[in-house]
Amino acid sequence: MQNHSALWRNPANHLCRTTPDQPVLYLSPRVLQDTALRFRRGFGGLVTYAVKANDRAEVLANLVAAGITTFDVASPAEMAAVRAACPQAVLHYNNPVRSVAEIAAGIEMGVASWSVDEAGELDKLADVPPEAEIAVRFALPVKGAAYDFGDKFGATPDQAVELLRRVTRLGHVPALCFHPGTQCEDAGAWDSYIREAARIAERAGVRIARLNVGGGFAANRTGAAPDLEVVFDAIHWAVRDAFGTDAPQLICEPGRAMVAESFTLAARIKALRAGGRTVFLNDGIYGRLTDLRDMGLTRRVDVVCPAGCLRSGHAVSRVIYGPTCDSLDRLPDGLELPDTSAAGDYVLFHGMGAYSVAMGTAFNGYGACDVVTVDLLSGHHATVS
Ligand SMILES: *Cc1c(COP(=O)(O)O)cnc(C)c1O
Repeated sequence: MQNHSALWRNPANHLCRTTPDQPVLYLSPRVLQDTALRFRRGFGGLVTYAVKANDRAEVLANLVAAGITTFDVASPAEMAAVRAACPQAVLHYNNPVRSVAEIAAGIEMGVASWSVDEAGELDKLADVPPEAEIAVRFALPVKGAAYDFGDKFGATPDQAVELLRRVTRLGHVPALCFHPGTQCEDAGAWDSYIREAARIAERAGVRIARLNVGGGFAANRTGAAPDLEVVFDAIHWAVRDAFGTDAPQLICEPGRAMVAESFTLAARIKALRAGGRTVFLNDGIYGRLTDLRDMGLTRRVDVVCPAGCLRSGHAVSRVIYGPTCDSLDRLPDGLELPDTSAAGDYVLFHGMGAYSVAMGTAFNGYGACDVVTVDLLSGHHATVS
């Protein structure tokens, strides 16, 4: 593990000294590396990182420092970002729809593992060297995630049997993969997928080398998500049960759960209207808060005054608008902020490392957001009303 010296102790410490008028994302390298180690200790297989959740150079560098050297990439630009952070990184190219030019770029970059979910896409991989792994991605109609990735990608089990046979005939290392959907709060989803993977391999008559159980591990947004270890346990038991002593090597590729907890977003209150029932922030759904529109509100919010004090008081449900002139720039209604909140305060959204900075746009001139490194993401501010 790398020694991480942060300039600032915590967000409140930075906010009161600099009173930034732009949104700030606070990164705790310590929290990020601890999360990576938690996956590496608990998962029982190869832990990789899905770059799309947050492709910032600091994130990749801290993951490399914590021993993550294999990355799930979806595009040539992500491959380049990974190789810049770690020249020997192993690349898993798991976007199953690729242009011919993207495939050529992946071969050039030495991609070690490719996923496919359709015969035509497998045809397109004809120039991939046979020693590369090809993982057949399948989908089941299981629920439990915030939104269903199976809508877009994934062969049916019948199609997966055929694809797996073809991959094996072509001389590639055969594997299976799935993704239960992002923010999957039901460990039973992995159980269903793993049992189906064993049936697919058996029907195809193929011994798969590896089984990739996807991302989808839930971040702590509302307190409802199971601990990672509960999901690791469910995976472990399902693999034992379904594959017996001849189990494939496991791979996971968390995005959200790897990086969410290591960032806190500070967005400033520009104005309060309608007696405080409406709040205008300097960040919104075109910036770092896109994911809240799709996932629903987080309960993990604090308000800090410009002097660094934590606002307390009676929680009031608000309508939150972002800074752009677009009326769609509005969070799902009902975010609760203390009744003592005032213009100039900072709303701290905790657990915001995933799908925040990665999805932000510069719409209406509001793209800027600093990333500031802190030792800890909580604590040390005085509580006042
Ligand atoms: C997005 C994605 C992931 C990461 O998903 P999370 O829900 O963020 O963990 C992993 N694998 C693939 C193939 C993906 O597309």
